[in-house]
Amino acid sequence: MLTIQGIPAFDDNYIWCIGTDTGPDVTLIDPGDAKPVITALHAQGLTPRAILITHHHPDHTGGIDQLVAHYGLPVFGPGHEDIPHRSHPLGEGDTVELPQLHLRVMDVPGHTRGHIAFYRAADNLGPALLFCGDTLFTGGCGRLFEGTPAQMQDALQRIRALPDETLVYCAHEYTEANLGFAHIAEPHNAAISQRRKDVHAARQQGLPTVPAPLGLEKATNPFLRWDTPELVRNAEAFAGRPLITPTEIFSAVRQWKDTLD
Ligand code: ZN
Ligand code: FE
Repeated sequence: MLTIQGIPAFDDNYIWCIGTDTGPDVTLIDPGDAKPVITALHAQGLTPRAILITHHHPDHTGGIDQLVAHYGLPVFGPGHEDIPHRSHPLGEGDTVELPQLHLRVMDVPGHTRGHIAFYRAADNLGPALLFCGDTLFTGGCGRLFEGTPAQMQDALQRIRALPDETLVYCAHEYTEANLGFAHIAEPHNAAISQRRKDVHAARQQGLPTVPAPLGLEKATNPFLRWDTPELVRNAEAFAGRPLITPTEIFSAVRQWKDTLD
């Protein structure tokens, strides 16, 4: 079986560490800081074999230098961004083939221009997984720093087409704040109200709320709900005009959330 742990870094980042229950080898995703990674691996007797990067922001790449110096690792990352020590440039449709870990690469521009995500289909080792960096967040999505609303909406549309059982491993613990906005955007959505309670209770106990199943995201995440009448009506009230296309709706919801953050 696969085993996945989130190594906490900075205030709210998770550095995902994928291993198996049969050996010490692990794969690291978005190590923004080397220190907590080295500490966790050392304590558990684990050996990193590769680094995977979703995008170029320092809170996702800051640990590469030191980890490569320490362990000498290949670095898989987006081909269209500047990634230190990148040995394997990746883009849409590429695959990462490591022993017991086969991932498909998706181009998901929007947060950054070259952002990629890693998807793993379900098999006998475990469920479907999506490592999506700062594109889809649990309960929300990344800000548009470099890409366009059309690019981000298209990326989210392709993510929404993945199976409901897919576990979403995003790179930050933002769920509780995100669901506060989700509730404002869709006050009558009972699934959002229930998830807010569940997430609040988990956070009170210091538990992570990532990963979450994509099916739950489809039911509660305003950035995956562009065809929900209540959300569209409220986004139109914010924008002060009718919103027709999914991109217009996405763009208004993103701007609305930005004004409240
Ligand atoms: Zn980022
Ligand atoms: Fe980030």
